[in-house]
Parts: sequence; C-alpha cells; structure tokens
Amino acid sequence: MKIINKIEDLKNEIKNLKSTKPGTIGLVPTMGALHKGHLSLIEKCRQENKIAIVSVFVNPTQFGPNEDYDKYPRTLEDDAQLCENAGIDIVFAPSPRDIYDEYYFKHKETTLICPPYEVVNKLCGKARPGHFDGVCTIVGKLFNITKANKAYFGQKDAQQLFIIQKMVRELNFDIEIVPCPIVRETDGLALSSRNTYLDEKARKSALSISRALFKAKELRTKGVIETQTLIDTALAYINMGGNMETEYAEIVSVDTFEKIDIIEENKKALMLIAAKVNVEDSNSGNCYQVRLIDNIEL
Ligand code: AMP
Repeated sequence: MKIINKIEDLKNEIKNLKSTKPGTIGLVPTMGALHKGHLSLIEKCRQENKIAIVSVFVNPTQFGPNEDYDKYPRTLEDDAQLCENAGIDIVFAPSPRDIYDEYYFKHKETTLICPPYEVVNKLCGKARPGHFDGVCTIVGKLFNITKANKAYFGQKDAQQLFIIQKMVRELNFDIEIVPCPIVRETDGLALSSRNTYLDEKARKSALSISRALFKAKELRTKGVIETQTLIDTALAYINMGGNMETEYAEIVSVDTFEKIDIIEENKKALMLIAAKVNVEDSNSGNCYQVRLIDNIEL
C-alpha cells in the first residue's frame, strides 16, 4: 500500500496500478481518525473494486470559523495501518496546500460547488453555513483527481449523502455513489470520529440520541404517523440524557429531504437529530460542546 500526498503522484500511481490491475477504481473519502464505521465503507470498496483508494483529508473549506478544524483528531499513522490491513492500494493524505492553490490561502476563497440553497439551508447546513459547499467541492475534486468509478458514503451523514447524490446527477459526474449503513456501538451510539472528544459522562448523555431515534422507530412501528408526536417523544428522550442541547430533530421524506407532517403508507421517512453534548475538560475545568448527528429510517 502507498501513502501519497501529492495529486500528480496519485495520478501516476493510479496509472501504474491500472496497467497491472485493469478494472474499476473505488474511492472512500474520509477525514481520518478511522473507526469501524469508516472500515465498513473501506471493506465494501475493497471487495467491489480492482483498485481501492481511501482519502484522508480534514478539509478546511467545510469548517466554519468557530468549528473544530484545528482540534479535529488527526491520526494518519493508525489510519494507514487500518487501511493496509484492509488491503487498500492507496491512502491519499494530502495537506491543504496540496489540494488548494495559493489564491485560496491569500484570499480565503476558491471555486466552489454550491448546491441549491433549499437543500443546504436546513438540518446540518443551517447551523453550518457553507459546510456543504466545502463538502461538495472537495468531493468533486477527489472524483476528478481519482477518476473513480464508485465512491462510498455512510448513511450516518444522511444530508451529505443526499446532496452528493444530487450533485452527481446534476453535474453529470460519471461515478456511482454507494450508500453504506450506519455502524453503531453495541449500545446503539453511532460511531463517529468526534466520539473521541467524549468522556464517560458525556458518552452516557450522547447515548440519548440513538435512544431517541430507536423510540421514535418503535412508535412508528406501532402505527404512529404524525411526525410531531414522534419528534416530541425524541426530544423528551434527548432531554433525559442531561447535558444535552438539541440543535434539530426533524422528519423528512427520504426522496426529497423535505419536512413532512404525516408519514404516508409505503413512503419512506427519515428522522434526523443533531445535538450538542457538554463535556468538562478534566485538566482545565473548562466546558466545551461536542456536536453529534445520527438518523434512522422510519
Ligand atoms: P468522515 O471521516 O466523518 O468525513 O466520514 C467519512 C465517511 O464515513 C462518510 O461517508 C461518513 O458518512 C462515513 N461514516 C462515518 N461514521 C460512520 C458510521 N458510524 N457508519 C457508517 N458510515 C460512517
């Protein structure tokens, strides 16, 4: 397995591999700090393609000024080991300067892929203005650089997956997007690189997010179709977690990502939650918040 930083080196290595192993190229875009959630995407990519590439890049254009870009966990050595064990061919781990040109660092601006306002100005995009422009831009760049045939994305980031599928359709990217199910801890907590910020107490509180989703699903299975009832129940569960601040709890149509009041028979709906968990730093005594997201199909 090769670890590559530069775009040109990546293109050359892909060319080399293609000459010895003709077939499809699979790509798993990640920000690193890899866990079993990422690994499920990586393994699927390995199984389904001749050449399997994992990118590890904490993308500055998708973080807001007061977000955790600097603090985001960076564990490239461990990530590369996991990828090697999974039989990946290339880990592409560029620095921001390998990806964005001088103009970006001087003016803090670059050419962006901007999905329509209606799809980004809600759920995660509402609290994170510009986030999905940054995501689509880096993902589009990675598609163009690798010329991958298939790219693997987790349903954990459901709005991201929806927006990327839309981008691929509307900008005619010649790539298949493969959605992968959410991987959870045995107690239900969705795996996330940001879980590393949680201490034991905060982790217990965070568990209320998946509990809220499971409860809503249970009620739906019992026949509740009014989304407000399901949302109110979920909110009550999150509040029970203590130390939590809900950013949003919404139910949308899987097909359109638009809010719905009633879940119609045979129509798929998705409940999405974002919540912040308060964590106390044991060294400084200072408090900080960790933002977590999760969702479930109802
Ligand atoms: P990230 O490194 O957080 O940008 O995630 C990279 C990819 O892994 C995205 O497509 C995520 O949706 C996916 N992913 C992250 N956590 C999970 C999880 N618990 N289950 C499934 N996919 C995940």
